[in-house]
Amino acid sequence: MEHSNDSKKPDSATNPESEKKQKNGISRRQALKYIGYGTGAIAVGGTGGFYGYRRSLQVSSAEADLVRKVKFVVAGGSIGGLTVAARLMRAVPGADITVIEPREIHHYQPGYTLVGAGVYNKEDVLFDQKSLFLPGVKWVKDYVEAFEPEDNRVITRSGEAIPYDYLVVGLGVVTNMDSVENLREALETPHVANIYNLETAEKFRRLADRFEGGKAVFTYPPGYVKCGGAPQKISWLSEDLWRGKGIRDKVDVHFYTERHTVFPAIPKVDDVVRPLVEERGLLNHFHHTLKAIDTSTRTAIFEEKTENGSVREVRQRYDLLHPMPSFHTPKPLREGPLTREGIGGQFSADRHTLQHTKYPNVFGVGDNAATGAAKTAATIRKQAPVIVGNMIDMIVGRDMQNKYNGESGCPLLTRYGRCIMTEFDFDRNLQNEWFYQSTRETRIWWDFKVHGLKRLYRHVMINGYV
Ligand SMILES: Cc1cc2nc3c(=O)[nH]c(=O)nc-3n(C[C@H](O)[C@H](O)[C@H](O)COP(=O)(O)OP(=O)(O)OC[C@H]3O[C@@H](n4cnc5c(N)ncnc54)[C@H](O)[C@@H]3O)c2cc1C
Repeated sequence: MEHSNDSKKPDSATNPESEKKQKNGISRRQALKYIGYGTGAIAVGGTGGFYGYRRSLQVSSAEADLVRKVKFVVAGGSIGGLTVAARLMRAVPGADITVIEPREIHHYQPGYTLVGAGVYNKEDVLFDQKSLFLPGVKWVKDYVEAFEPEDNRVITRSGEAIPYDYLVVGLGVVTNMDSVENLREALETPHVANIYNLETAEKFRRLADRFEGGKAVFTYPPGYVKCGGAPQKISWLSEDLWRGKGIRDKVDVHFYTERHTVFPAIPKVDDVVRPLVEERGLLNHFHHTLKAIDTSTRTAIFEEKTENGSVREVRQRYDLLHPMPSFHTPKPLREGPLTREGIGGQFSADRHTLQHTKYPNVFGVGDNAATGAAKTAATIRKQAPVIVGNMIDMIVGRDMQNKYNGESGCPLLTRYGRCIMTEFDFDRNLQNEWFYQSTRETRIWWDFKVHGLKRLYRHVMINGYV
């Protein structure tokens, strides 16, 4: 069941401080209007892909009979695994699909930023996992312990061997808590929290709300990052929160990043965003990697790569710290046979077909796949039909006809009520730039992020309408 109380919420387009004064909730009618805009966005963003997948996903009854004889196993039942399972079930009703997923409660992770910003409550990002399966999709409530692709089977933690003809791997990526010394202990202290976990996202909200001034320090890690815009977004929203509270002149907002600029993912957007945040007085520090946290002196310890290539230690005192460790994939993937050297434990995928580079009956979806695309749910919307189409092509004896072109998206929440909406490809070129107005802060895309995207995720993607 979706726990949404949008209609009771204050107007989330405003800074929460002025929200408290205004108390003007968004009406259902207004919300529907935005969903309408959103549908337009889906139409624009999705059209090109849809026609590309048409042939493979329009299955004749003879082809469907062939597909129904095949046993599909999906490892990981989040947005990646479930969207593939649902899309497949819609293409071939009655297909034999098993999803292996241990969680009983599903987390809508793209909502964590809004929890950290006080726009969503915890309940807004939780779904009953059971309610997310299309009828006919089987659920094994367990962990994958090992992949055995030579024998076409998966071993679960309880010791069950689950055979498959086709396997789709969507285990996601998680923060590597060992990549920053003393991180676990620091997260227990009253000055440290981040938005990459629901509990700490709620804690961050409380800390930001009670903050009375001092040094607020945000960090960005090396390597691949789940939603590469989220650490920036929470720093920008926090700055706006403190501005709204009237304490901005008492706060130094520092953003320490391993990268060379604020939003390197899309240079054209970086050209807009970087001056925008610098005008607001955010202090950017490039080429810095968080290494350790000293909680006794409230100091974040960084390694800075200097211009001459040397490395030096930089220490930064904090009164509020939003630390970001680097990411890795779950153990059965990073230590198993489906990864390879040089890709940080990710699933070894052909970036266009999403097929495993060694095992042709194995595909990778979402964050865990080493495609070079952004690690966002928006990516999955484009990948899922490619994977389903290619599996069907293989089963019916066609060459694979579907190619993923790296399309992804990221709503950059620059301040309360404002968003720069982006969609881009492998080459980091903006897509549908005119439609999204991707180099401008707009109110409409903020509202779409807050009111529309969760519905798109829950009712469109997870129901297989991609
Ligand atoms: C703070 C934050 C903000 C974000 N903002 C956005 C945004 O604005 N827009 C956007 O599009 N995306 C955003 N994202 C990214 C988005 O949430 C991810 O890209 C998406 O969840 C990836 O889906 P996935 O299915 O690949 O992996 P996940 O959603 O991470 O799911 C992996 C699944 O695998 C399961 N699993 C793990 N190990 C095992 C195992 N051994 N056996 C079986 N199952 C296992 C897990 O329980 C989980 O259900 C954000 C993420 C975060 C954290």
